[in-house]
Amino acid sequence: MSQIDERVTAVREQVSRAADRAGRAMDEITVIAVTKFHPAELVAQLYAAGIRDVGENRHQEAEAKAAALETLHDLTWHFVGQLQSKKARRVARYARVVHSVDRDSVVDALDGAETPVGCFIQVALSDDEHRGGVAPGDVERLAERVVASRNLSLVGVMAVAPLGEEPRSAFARLRAISERVQAIEPSASSISAGMSGDFAEAILEGATHLRVGTAITGNRPPTP
Ligand SMILES: *Cc1c(COP(=O)(O)O)cnc(C)c1O
Repeated sequence: MSQIDERVTAVREQVSRAADRAGRAMDEITVIAVTKFHPAELVAQLYAAGIRDVGENRHQEAEAKAAALETLHDLTWHFVGQLQSKKARRVARYARVVHSVDRDSVVDALDGAETPVGCFIQVALSDDEHRGGVAPGDVERLAERVVASRNLSLVGVMAVAPLGEEPRSAFARLRAISERVQAIEPSASSISAGMSGDFAEAILEGATHLRVGTAITGNRPPTP
């Protein structure tokens, strides 16, 4: 087994154990391998190891990799990084799901694309502006805007655990926000939460989409 195969297997086992502890089924949890900074060849290796969902956070890099691997028809690209509205239409060409919808301008730009896009509303769980996300009090208003759009479907909510807080309590707040969103759109029940260091806690708080980078890929190469 290659190192990549071993890491994919190890993460799957950890996800499975956490799901057991949470009394949840493995098949309600999607592991998205976050491949930012890594070359397309690594994504191809992950595909060979059974990964069908990959996450990227920078448009140009993601666009190039998606083009290089366009023959892998059942590979789903997730955009997880902060998104500028002027790039949103192009992101919609390859990304079937965007996890970082946090502003009206991004909703409107994505809605102007030709292809349907699944949207997670990114919620800021702390006041740290740099990490993106809409304030909890504004989530419902933004959710209604996505629901009213032509091309977008509201999938659920997303967050990054804040620094300096126990992740589980932050993910519990996200779960409560998810319930408010489901009161607006009952099908928007997905929760994108949990990274390499905290996916077990996220699973305990209902995460359905884990965004796992280094635990699967190994250390990222330095920023290109
Ligand atoms: C990079 C990144 C991840 C993965 O982080 P790891 O700690 O490497 O697992 C998850 N979510 C977002 C938004 C990211 O940018």
